[in-house]
Amino acid sequence: MAATTQDYYEVLGVKREASQDEIKKTYRRLARKYHPDLNPGDKNAEKKFKEINEAYEVLSDSKKRSEYDQFGKAAFDGQQGFEGFRSQNFDFGFGGHEDIFSNLFRNFRHEEIPEKGADLVTSLDISLEDAFAGMTRPITLTKETSCRTCSGTGAEDLRTCPQCKGAGTLKQSRGVFRVNQPCPACRGTGKTITKACKACRGKGSVAASETIKVKIPPGADTGSRIRLRGMGNPGTRGGPTGDLYIELRVKPHPLFKREGNNIITEVPVTVPEAVLGGKIQVPTLEGTVTMTLPQGTDSGKKFRLKGKGIPDRKTGTRGDEYAVIKIVVPKTVSGKTKEALQELEKAYKNA
Ligand SMILES: [Zn+2]
Ligand SMILES: [Zn+2]
Repeated sequence: MAATTQDYYEVLGVKREASQDEIKKTYRRLARKYHPDLNPGDKNAEKKFKEINEAYEVLSDSKKRSEYDQFGKAAFDGQQGFEGFRSQNFDFGFGGHEDIFSNLFRNFRHEEIPEKGADLVTSLDISLEDAFAGMTRPITLTKETSCRTCSGTGAEDLRTCPQCKGAGTLKQSRGVFRVNQPCPACRGTGKTITKACKACRGKGSVAASETIKVKIPPGADTGSRIRLRGMGNPGTRGGPTGDLYIELRVKPHPLFKREGNNIITEVPVTVPEAVLGGKIQVPTLEGTVTMTLPQGTDSGKKFRLKGKGIPDRKTGTRGDEYAVIKIVVPKTVSGKTKEALQELEKAYKNA
């Protein structure tokens, strides 16, 4: 059954004597307006889109149009080709199988709708000190920029496509239909390049390296992303420039291990220090601090240095540092030290 009971001319909003060109132009405008891809989830637009296509299938074909003019929709009743074609090949999804509508649409969406340039992603290794304090670092990246020699056209010399005479589309037979297909000679642009631009070899863009300054905020961590708006690849047909994302990786540090905004460091102490207690030096991200080690500290004991960690990227509140005590022993000892240690051994028995 036909999707619409309305008159095909009314559906397209054209007069009965409208030219093929007028019908085509109106169809293109309406089809773009109601295309499901541009109106996701809109049932009315979907219905309208079907109606427009149905009307256009008939009115764009001069033979079918004249039959329609004489007999109305009855002219197509029972024509398996017509109904079968539409129900089987009508695809809103743009995915998968080849379909004249999606091809057609993909093509003129491509031609006429401005597109945002590609986002670029690059990674940057930073030290834990840089992640702690934040900093500005210059980075050099290579990205596509519009070719200046040809103003992005890719051509040194541009002519109207002889195949489609500049229309960008060609009429082709597909079963019972004659449909507009993108012109393969000019890929739907209506223009052919007779001489490619030497500077960009016809691409329209060239890779250029650019150095930009990246501000890394205090508290950055591995996986933190910095977005630099408008620093990606240029858009096409006046579309906006893409963005640049910088993914940070914090390099491992010889002294500190990071856990969220806390840092952990191992502090070696001698046996006498552990037994007798005393002042010990503990490294922090801001230099060494002196800490009092209590008498009789076991190996593995953790001391918290409040607020000596990494600032939170959002709030600025600093995490803590944990100093983990590690008792180190001398590998060899002389006679006198041996005696002293044997004395120490007694202390374990008395404890
Ligand atoms: Zn060029
Ligand atoms: Zn062409």
